[in-house]
Amino acid sequence: MTTIPARPRVLLRLVLRLLLRLLLGAALLLAVAGCGKEGSPPVKGPQPEDLPVYQVDTAFQLPASPTWERAERRGHLVVGVKEDQPYMGEKDPSSGRYSGFDIEIAKMMSAALGFDPKTIEFKTIASANRETALQNGQIDYYVGTYTINDNRKRQVGFAGPYFIAGQSLLVRKDEKDINGPEDLKGKKVCSATGSTPYQRLEKEYPEADLVAYDTYSVCVDNLLTYQVDAVSTDNTILMGYAAKVPEELKVVGTPFSKEPYGIGVPRSDNALRFALDDALAAIEKNGDWKRAYDATLGLSGVPAPPPPPIDRYPAS
Ligand code: GLU
Repeated sequence: MTTIPARPRVLLRLVLRLLLRLLLGAALLLAVAGCGKEGSPPVKGPQPEDLPVYQVDTAFQLPASPTWERAERRGHLVVGVKEDQPYMGEKDPSSGRYSGFDIEIAKMMSAALGFDPKTIEFKTIASANRETALQNGQIDYYVGTYTINDNRKRQVGFAGPYFIAGQSLLVRKDEKDINGPEDLKGKKVCSATGSTPYQRLEKEYPEADLVAYDTYSVCVDNLLTYQVDAVSTDNTILMGYAAKVPEELKVVGTPFSKEPYGIGVPRSDNALRFALDDALAAIEKNGDWKRAYDATLGLSGVPAPPPPPIDRYPAS
């Protein structure tokens, strides 16, 4: 049963705060939908007609991979992604369509493994749940700003890297005091549970007042409603949020980590991991990687960097 606070003042304050949150939330939604202030044109997201079409390798077989075999029996792949990271992995709530650079990587991998990308079943999985989702077979592989590191390699396998991001900070446009991680002392900083940026802040910037949620979009909502002072995660993700509401948010400072993005696979499925490494090498060579980047993350204004070398580490 809910108890009503005895003091009406407390109640009034609660109602006012809720109202403010609702108003600001609606403002963000409007801005995101492209109905922002006059003179701020809607941000153009990835357009379906600009995206490359990938050739499906219909003759492909991978009997050594239990994950591939299971997908073959099922008839399609199940791929774990993010749904609230503009330019990287974002789901359009009205069409249900996913778009972004990670989504294109997922599609290119599907085509290389012999499955039409149109048949992919995308599943949204939060940062903290990626390893479990791969371990219990909920997904075949994962493409969603997933940093390769030794700790995670004990639990899952990684093909790639296919991109290198770096940890950064997102603040409100009028913020003057926060220009880098050394300015976070006593500031409320939001990141996602189970993410490497959260872990880095906890370890290397212990004087920051850390707050964690499942997703970065909740952090951004908290930033816009003055509940937190900064959001910290990869620059790729933060640039997407800033681009959606440029009159409210900005990315500050220079990236202070290296986040090599990998495709997560079940740890024991080396055959799948090597097949994905081969497929990544092929798309980097044939130009599809660059075309996909230009049509997605490239819209944030950063030209395509050269793709990083693939780390085909031995089977374990
Ligand atoms: N790349 C970082 C990580 O894998 C942050 C982004 C995310 O949470 O997906 O933890």
